[in-house]
Amino acid sequence: MNVEKMEFDRAALLEELRGTDDMRRGSITEVYRRCGKETCRCADDSDAWHGPYYAYTRKVGGKTKTLQLRAGPLLSKIEREVEAGRRFRTTCDRLFDVSEALCEHRPVEANAETPQAVSEEAAKKRGSKTFSRKKSPSRSKR
Ligand SMILES: [Zn+2]
Repeated sequence: MNVEKMEFDRAALLEELRGTDDMRRGSITEVYRRCGKETCRCADDSDAWHGPYYAYTRKVGGKTKTLQLRAGPLLSKIEREVEAGRRFRTTCDRLFDVSEALCEHRPVEANAETPQAVSEEAAKKRGSKTFSRKKSPSRSKR
């Protein structure tokens, strides 16, 4: 891929982000539940559970907050806002992809005073040990 095409793609993605409407983080799930009355059908028939209700869940200051909703204009509004947030995230990821590809293509300044990166090959040949540490903690995946 050529650099001009990548720069064009990046500009398009930035333009897409600029057009982002009201957005929210979090997600909406459908919920059914029992009312707790012993005489209600829902007590022993799971098909008679009440609902659907909708739970809008999001993290606020590290804590999960849930807003219970019924179908209606408020639910529709939050659905649109959550969807806009999801699109924003996706576009951000694509922007990072394009930007990182551009970074790889950029020449290194000839008279830069910063030390140059040593390739893995060269490091192996010299038998030097490498030591690396991530700048930010990352959770290991199972
Ligand atoms: Zn019930």
